[in-house]
Amino acid sequence: MGTSPARGHRLREVRSGALPVPAAQRHCSVLIVGGGIAGLAAARAFARAGHDDVHLLELEDQAGGNSRGHRIAGLACPIGAHYLPLPGPQAREVSELLHELGLLRHELGRTVAEERHLCHSPQERLFIDGAWIDGLLPPAEPGSPAHAQYRAFAAAVAQAQRELGFALPSHRAPWTAAHQALDAMPFAQWLQVRGLTDARLRWYLDYSCRDDYGAPADSVSAWAGLHYFASRHGFHAPGDADGERDPVFTWPEGNAWLSERLARPLGDRLLPGRTVLQVDEGRHGVQVLAWDEALQQIEAWQADTVVLAVPLYIAARLLRSLPAALAQVVPLQPHAPWLVANLQVAEPLLQRQGAPPAWDNVVYGSDALGYVDATHQSLSPVAGATVLTAYHALSANQRPALLADDADTWAQRVVQGLAALHPDLPAKLRHVALTRHGHAMSIPMPGLRGHPALAALRAQRGRVRFAHADLAGYSVFEEAFTLGCEVALAGRAERRN
Ligand SMILES: Cc1cc2nc3c(=O)[nH]c(=O)nc-3n(C[C@H](O)[C@H](O)[C@H](O)COP(=O)(O)OP(=O)(O)OC[C@H]3O[C@@H](n4cnc5c(N)ncnc54)[C@H](O)[C@@H]3O)c2cc1C
Repeated sequence: MGTSPARGHRLREVRSGALPVPAAQRHCSVLIVGGGIAGLAAARAFARAGHDDVHLLELEDQAGGNSRGHRIAGLACPIGAHYLPLPGPQAREVSELLHELGLLRHELGRTVAEERHLCHSPQERLFIDGAWIDGLLPPAEPGSPAHAQYRAFAAAVAQAQRELGFALPSHRAPWTAAHQALDAMPFAQWLQVRGLTDARLRWYLDYSCRDDYGAPADSVSAWAGLHYFASRHGFHAPGDADGERDPVFTWPEGNAWLSERLARPLGDRLLPGRTVLQVDEGRHGVQVLAWDEALQQIEAWQADTVVLAVPLYIAARLLRSLPAALAQVVPLQPHAPWLVANLQVAEPLLQRQGAPPAWDNVVYGSDALGYVDATHQSLSPVAGATVLTAYHALSANQRPALLADDADTWAQRVVQGLAALHPDLPAKLRHVALTRHGHAMSIPMPGLRGHPALAALRAQRGRVRFAHADLAGYSVFEEAFTLGCEVALAGRAERRN
């Protein structure tokens, strides 16, 4: 559920044949293509800049893109993004949104977060050595060689923060020759060169890359590997005093809590069920052809400005005339496939020894990314029926099976994996909802983030503009939202790289 590969794959047919004559013709000043976080942010930013004729076309029947939710037996759950860290100083637009939504407020000169929506304790636990432990870092005895490696990595992150500079959104940090050098090499190689080879440290760093970037440490750049920690609150060896967990906002429906609030003000100017097939920039405007999924006919739009808030490889298929920068970036930017499984369980699962159930539950050494509990934020003192959302970042060669294998086959794979940990799961399982994200997120491969063509696309301010997390080279809310806000600024955006 949740994604429609057949609609997206319509674009393949467009290449091979002529499109039918449009059955309807519409006009607007600003047309946004794609209703993910970036598209919704762009629509909001244009409306705030005084454009009262902003429309948004979205392929799915609901806006939100990777930040959508679902309900099973009345319980809300995410089908993609599920948390947002407290914004740092460079994420000004995100902070402003969170103030508007009541998630942040000023109190006695301080910024205070709304506790109700901050992830409650216990936040994370790891199953390792036959028991659950608090937090996700595999333990290491202080003074042991493994602990020394944790400390060495923590020092390298602190040095990178201090001497190079990292930010979220990433384009608000400087981009120097040193950043470029980090971007050129795989993270795993960077770690190897520094002798950071401890198996547990490496598993944790690999897990972090798969969790944020959908790909392991030998696929992403060293810039991406460091950015994960250096743009947030650094890295702390197990047991170190300032190793406090980063506070994050989370909701039962995940980041759909945010996307629904961004979509609401658009009203009927948000048109779901519209698969955009072609975008043609002319002298006096841009023509957009969209397939109306309900009426099964072509709708033609004429707009002064069009924002392509879709992944860049899709933008390249839509545009009749391809900008050189886009043609350069697309081959450098593979997308990771993901499977998200929502498992409705009738009663709490039996627990192994150690730390109690947390919001995020991860197994050491597993290829899967663990599961979050959709009722974790409930204030009920008694645990009951719930939905567990299990995340799997797949490799590119699993994509054909993700499309072809039936739901039962995938459900069995997911349940078998979790049953090793929770043998009572199959008996308590009532329903499984699977979401296939065939091209979920951009993998920040070596050479992508620092490529000048990516910066050129971020800066493009003609009739056709780009706004999507792909422009950052990787995908998180802060990047998507800020890039969406900036696209309305007509060249006034603050851009350091
Ligand atoms: C499984 C998963 C978990 C994640 N977890 C987190 C998390 O916890 N926190 C976090 O910050 N980020 C997370 N992310 C990253 C997430 O992608 C970003 O937070 C953000 O939602 C990206 O928004 P976007 O607008 O850039 O892209 P998208 O969500 O990709 O939006 C693009 C939109 O364009 C539409 N579209 C595509 N083609 C067409 C077409 N031809 N015509 C019309 N519309 C079209 C799509 O349907 C989609 O709605 C996760 C991603 C995934 C896949």
